[in-house]
Amino acid sequence: MPIATIDPTTGQTVKTFEAYDAAEVRRRLDRAVDAAATLRETPIAQRADWMRAAADIVENDLDRLARMLTQEMGKPITQARAEVHKCVRAMRFEADHVEELLADQPLAEPDAVGASQAWTTWQPLGVVLAVMPWNFALWQVMRFAAPALLAGNAGLLKHASNVPQAALYLDSLFERAGFPPGSFQALLIPSSQVAGLIQDDRIAAVTITGSEPAGRSVAETAGKAIKKSVLELGGSDPFIVMPGVDLDTASSTAVRARVQNNGQSCIAAKRFVVHTDIYDDFVDQFTAKMADLVVGDPMDEATDVGPLATESGRRDLAELVDDATAKGADVLVGGNVGDGPGWFYPPTALAGLTDDMRIVTEEAFGPVAAIYRVSDRDEAVRVANQTSFGLSSAVWSPDADEQAWFVRELDAGAVFVNGMSESSAELPFGGVKASGYGREMGTAGIHEFCNLKAVWKA
Ligand code: NAP
Repeated sequence: MPIATIDPTTGQTVKTFEAYDAAEVRRRLDRAVDAAATLRETPIAQRADWMRAAADIVENDLDRLARMLTQEMGKPITQARAEVHKCVRAMRFEADHVEELLADQPLAEPDAVGASQAWTTWQPLGVVLAVMPWNFALWQVMRFAAPALLAGNAGLLKHASNVPQAALYLDSLFERAGFPPGSFQALLIPSSQVAGLIQDDRIAAVTITGSEPAGRSVAETAGKAIKKSVLELGGSDPFIVMPGVDLDTASSTAVRARVQNNGQSCIAAKRFVVHTDIYDDFVDQFTAKMADLVVGDPMDEATDVGPLATESGRRDLAELVDDATAKGADVLVGGNVGDGPGWFYPPTALAGLTDDMRIVTEEAFGPVAAIYRVSDRDEAVRVANQTSFGLSSAVWSPDADEQAWFVRELDAGAVFVNGMSESSAELPFGGVKASGYGREMGTAGIHEFCNLKAVWKA
């Protein structure tokens, strides 16, 4: 894959970049090690001040950054601005809470372990490698970078090859804000070099956000090297609708949950599991709203859905839909690739799904909804849990007992009740099963790349 900005709206290459040679990668690794040693000795309050300064820089750069995100991967400009805002908010949130999140915890009864005092303390691990995707080219990175740097680690970013400008922006950001040189650097390298880096003694741990195959490869190498890893992988989230909820609100939220970021979000609702009593009404409203979406130039303020980020991504999505229709699925709206430049794919809804169709178990990374009719809540959970993924989920029900039952039964890292899945600085984010392990954000995220040291004093 070339390291290049290729505008998905036109298919034209805007800018290409040379991959770093071995000497440059070595130099950056060495700088990262030096920075980690400095950061480790820097008071938390100072790191927090630098993070706040970085947030101010991002906020000042908002319009330029949003246009860059839209040009590199095609998300609607309104959503690109929202992504930048979200980063600023999370950076400030993490900076404001880092002291309490990393505070020492004394053992209440140290004499029970024969000590005069005992406590735990969080210490940084060192240099952490982050392998990141293009779909939220700033937000995904910030979810790792803000807590990791605040905890006193240095970061090395291997970003997706189609968002090099986002990578280079992040490469200079933290140094501009006052962090020691080398605290956070991008490596313009192909993914084939990731395994070698994980094995390098200078790298202490690795995190990857991306597809299941990439996650498996990173986990395998990290496992062999006995290095901590966090995997944030794919999802095929269910969106369950039970009788008694407001179907207008539920269907509007369902559409938003499916097509956000042009349908390319790991926590997008991908499978809509609808109780038979309200199925027809829900599906009528849902498909009408999918058909009404404005598809077009993502730089246009009125656009709801822009192009897919890559040509291969659109091909993969079209193959999933074609496989389902060839095996008898009904196309309720959308369903074919139009003419013209750019990697557009129309908002699409499929029903009449059977277990032999790939879309039943695979992730549809684009604006394609798979709709299921179920007769009761047991069947709803069976369908919801039938994929190998377990990232997030949403359930719409008016009944508190039923809500609690779904919260217990769904195999997922999160359940959103009467809403849609969203990531935030406040809540932990991550999955189970093939969606990976470990958490970002919340109170758990900052601890992933820390050594929880127990201290015992005679
Ligand atoms: P991808 O192809 O796996 O790429 C993600 C990153 O991994 C890129 O930097 C890529 O580099 C690198 N990579 C690819 N193969 C690798 C390998 N064998 N070893 C090491 N690194 C490798 O995924 P994508 O298509 O960009 O992103 C979409 C996927 O990410 C979806 O499955 C989505 O659900 C998932 N995702 C998950 C989360 C989450 O938090 N759970 C969030 C967002 C996205 P190159 O670009 O150079 O290939």
